[in-house]
Amino acid sequence: MKTIFPIEKFRELETPFYYYDLDLLSATLKEINRCVSGHPFVVHYAIKANSNPRLLSEIREAGLGIDCVSKGELKVAMDCGFSPRSIVFAGVAKTDSEILAGIDAGIRCFNVESREELHIIDQLAASRGKIADVAIRVNPNIDAHTHKYITTGLNENKFGVDMEMLDSVISDALSLPNVNLIGLHFHIGSQITTMDAYQILCSRINDLQEHVAQLGAKIEIINVGGGLGIDYDNPDNSIPPFEEYFNTFSQLLSLRPGQEVHFELGRSVVGQCGSLISRVIFVKEGVKKRFVMLDAGMTELIRPALYQAHHVIQNLTPQSGDTAVYDVVGPICESSDCFGEDELLPVSHRGDFFALRSAGAYGEAMASQYNCRRLPSSYFSE
Ligand SMILES: *Cc1c(COP(=O)(O)O)cnc(C)c1O
Repeated sequence: MKTIFPIEKFRELETPFYYYDLDLLSATLKEINRCVSGHPFVVHYAIKANSNPRLLSEIREAGLGIDCVSKGELKVAMDCGFSPRSIVFAGVAKTDSEILAGIDAGIRCFNVESREELHIIDQLAASRGKIADVAIRVNPNIDAHTHKYITTGLNENKFGVDMEMLDSVISDALSLPNVNLIGLHFHIGSQITTMDAYQILCSRINDLQEHVAQLGAKIEIINVGGGLGIDYDNPDNSIPPFEEYFNTFSQLLSLRPGQEVHFELGRSVVGQCGSLISRVIFVKEGVKKRFVMLDAGMTELIRPALYQAHHVIQNLTPQSGDTAVYDVVGPICESSDCFGEDELLPVSHRGDFFALRSAGAYGEAMASQYNCRRLPSSYFSE
């Protein structure tokens, strides 16, 4: 499925802006639902990847729940009509006000990341005369082989409860009166493109299930987090490999009667449907380099500057078949504000439209107003 860019429409719009292909989003959601049907699988969309209301309503209509990591995200999800029972709440350092917001809303479950948090949830639930359902986020010490800023499952990370401490945290959860332990939660990292880390995760979970049952915990939900990667080199024709992903869990996880597996997918749901559209301000000739200077920068798409990520760069309005090599950079006063070095592109001119592809996840959601820029608008394919 190839995203078609309506250039004539773009001419009337102020750049930069995000452009979302809703047909692709809908095909992606359909594929997710096809793959999970017939399994005790529940998919939560990790709203931090992109909280654009138009995308959220498509995602809600497809029947996904929400994984949120802040009170703000919880509010956006509720305002968009997601049922509180379809919302889970993660986050390493939830404030009292965030925990109370989750309790008052009646969310499905808190994903608890420390003993300290568990005790505070117990106290706050007691103050409201409620019992809060919780899952403990376990740090399974698995290397997801991804960029060091987006791996989360190693002991040196700040996330989750280390395996060594798990027994005592579970025993606290079982004895505290106002929390009800219903799940185990895992999230080992993001942009994971091979199944081996997930295979290891499954066997870790199977072992842990035996052990946790012996401690007397009744686990209803195994939440395996998110992290399925997308193919940044091939933005067209690339719905992520959901079948292989979900099959890995359906084949390798040994579930107990009545257990559900929950997933928290972010990037793989929305990543490919979004592009950042920009105009060329200048084509600048340097001594050694030639630069395409865009009106979009790290303020609209920070992934290249933050994670050394590369997004496919397309000139949408080439005027001839000739090509040249350019560094493609943004206007922001930072050297890391660079989208690509030595990119082979059609010969480019001032005013050309450029697309930075695969910008649907962690693009708009991470936009900033650095340099006092305005936050860009979003447009949709229909
Ligand atoms: C970020 C995050 C996700 C989603 O990660 P993706 O790589 O976008 O799928 C899921 N669960 C938790 C707890 C997260 O922090």
